[in-house]
Amino acid sequence: MNRVYNFSAGPSCIFEAVLQKAANQMLNYQDSKMSVMEMSHRSKTYEAIIKECEARLRRLMNIPENYKVLFLQGGASLQFSMIPMNLMKNKKVDVINTGQWTKKAIAEHLKLGEVKVIASSQADNFSYVPKVTKDMISDDCDYVYICENNTIYGTAYNYVPETNGKPLVADFSSCILSKPCNVKDFDLIFAGAQKNMGPAGLTVVIIKEDLIKEKPELPSMLSYKIHADNNSMYNTPPTYSIYMCGLVLEYLEETIGGLENMQKINEQKAKILYDYLDSSKLFNNPVNKEDRSIMNVTFVTGNEELDKLFILEAEKNGFVNLKGHRSVGGMRASIYNGMPIEGVEKLVSFMKEFEEKHYV
Ligand SMILES: *Cc1c(COP(=O)(O)O)cnc(C)c1O
Repeated sequence: MNRVYNFSAGPSCIFEAVLQKAANQMLNYQDSKMSVMEMSHRSKTYEAIIKECEARLRRLMNIPENYKVLFLQGGASLQFSMIPMNLMKNKKVDVINTGQWTKKAIAEHLKLGEVKVIASSQADNFSYVPKVTKDMISDDCDYVYICENNTIYGTAYNYVPETNGKPLVADFSSCILSKPCNVKDFDLIFAGAQKNMGPAGLTVVIIKEDLIKEKPELPSMLSYKIHADNNSMYNTPPTYSIYMCGLVLEYLEETIGGLENMQKINEQKAKILYDYLDSSKLFNNPVNKEDRSIMNVTFVTGNEELDKLFILEAEKNGFVNLKGHRSVGGMRASIYNGMPIEGVEKLVSFMKEFEEKHYV
């Protein structure tokens, strides 16, 4: 069977070797004679799986001792509410608006407090990431909120905003594990797993311990303190997604050899695609060069009919899910960790052929 090259923005491609290992272990995990899916989350066997998953994540990301790792559910989107519920004091938050995912976070924050958009690239269709300096941070804000990689527009931060001592909260859904990250630069990092960590159903929160406060007024399931005190086992965690995430982390550690190596591969993939886009007469990448994402690459021909034809023909040739997000149109190739270099090379060859046929 020839598998397709899946450029989906999420859920997205997973290392084939990881899928193969999961398939091999499907019916009988380590001689337990059952699937991980069927196991009690309180069993010794499962306890080893979740512990190993956390330990690998801590090693790979070099997470300091004073940060907790939480395995939650509800998607990255639930964090748009859990973060303000748990972290707000003055009920004022500064946000840098870089697109749809910060807009959704703003909308949820507004149900609970005040939001000050301290910078925004909305007027330029979110084609760049604004530069924020210390003097722009409000004195009375509880934290500063950013989205590190903007999945829909293909932009990413190339700097860490200085926050004048305020906690920095960042949505890493579409870039976690794509390269080394200095966790200490942030106070809370969160990510839905379905882009770079494994299947959907799991949301990872990496939070500095001193931000975790007793919140008796909150529903238990929405309290970081309760999840932290129970080692993400307050209720049944998404057991199979955590197991799959563990296999992805194992692959990153043992086969790729860590996030420095992953970064090299990701930069190589992105360069192949951007170099071609910069030389193409047909396709164009609409993003400010300095702010280009190495995970999501957007491009357009400038002609909607031609965009449609490209997406259709690409699909016939085994390159799927290249349609841009409905809010921006055009095309988007998400080239997460799981996308092999070969997939990007073949896509570029296909784009060159398409250009020869259709550029007039
Ligand atoms: C996909 C994505 C989300 C939403 O994730 P869900 O798990 O579907 O809630 C949030 N932020 C970013 C940056 C994303 O890429």
